[in-house]
Amino acid sequence: MPGRILPSLPCAVSRRVPVPVSFRPTLRAPFSSTAQACSSSSDFSDADKLATGLQKNKEWASKYPEQFPGLAKGQQPEILWIGCSDSRCPETTILGLNPGDVFVHRNIANIVHHADLNSACVIEFAVAHLKVKHIVVSGHTACGGINAALGNSKLGILDTWLLPLRNLRQKNIEALQSLDPQQAVIKLSELNVLDGVQKLKQLGVVIDAIETRGLQVHGVVYDVATGLLRTLNAADESHEATKARLTAFKTA
Ligand SMILES: [Zn+2]
Repeated sequence: MPGRILPSLPCAVSRRVPVPVSFRPTLRAPFSSTAQACSSSSDFSDADKLATGLQKNKEWASKYPEQFPGLAKGQQPEILWIGCSDSRCPETTILGLNPGDVFVHRNIANIVHHADLNSACVIEFAVAHLKVKHIVVSGHTACGGINAALGNSKLGILDTWLLPLRNLRQKNIEALQSLDPQQAVIKLSELNVLDGVQKLKQLGVVIDAIETRGLQVHGVVYDVATGLLRTLNAADESHEATKARLTAFKTA
C-alpha cells in the first residue's frame, strides 16, 4: 500500500479513537437554513451543543409554525436516503429540503447488508408502504468507516460490520493500491455505493417497484470539503446484467 491509511471512525466512535488531522472536519459553523435563520439569536458558541440545540429548536419551531399541522397528519417522502452516520452528512440539509421530504437510514459507512434487519425494515417500509420514488445510496469523502476498512487495526464488532468493505478492498486491491490514501478512500467509497445500489436491486420489493412504478435507485458521493454531491453512474447496467439479475433474484 502506498503509505499507511490511518483508521478513523465516524460519529460517536470517533470520540474514542483519535482522528487523523487530515480527516477532522474543519467546518464548524451550522450549515442548515434553519440554523442560519437562527443565527441572529444569542451567541451559543461556548455553550454545550445539546443545550444550544434545545434552545435553537424552540426558535426554529416558532419560525415555521405553518409547516407542522400538515406534517402531523402524516408523511409522503419521495426519497429514501441511505447514508453514513457521519455528522458532516445531514441528508436533508445537504439536499436543501425540509422535514417530511426524506426518509432516512444511516449507518457507519452507509453499508447495505442484506441480513441487516434495521435497514431491511426501512427499505421495505419506504418502498412498499411510503412508495418513495427514489432511493439514494450516499457515500462521502474522508469517511472514517471506509478509512478503517483500508487499515488493519482491530476494531472489535466494527470489524464485523465493515466486512463488506474489506471484501470490496480484496476484490479491488490493485486499483486501490495504485492510489494515494485519500484517493483510495474515495475509490472504496464509490465501490461501496455501487455495491449498495446493486444489493438494493436484488431485493424483491425493489425489483417489483422498479417494474411496476418506475422506482429509481441512485448512487452519490458527498464531498465534505465542498458540500457538493456527485452522482455515480449507478444506473448503468447492461441488458444482459439486468436479465441475469432478474433471473437470479426476481420472485413472485
Ligand atoms: Zn462515513
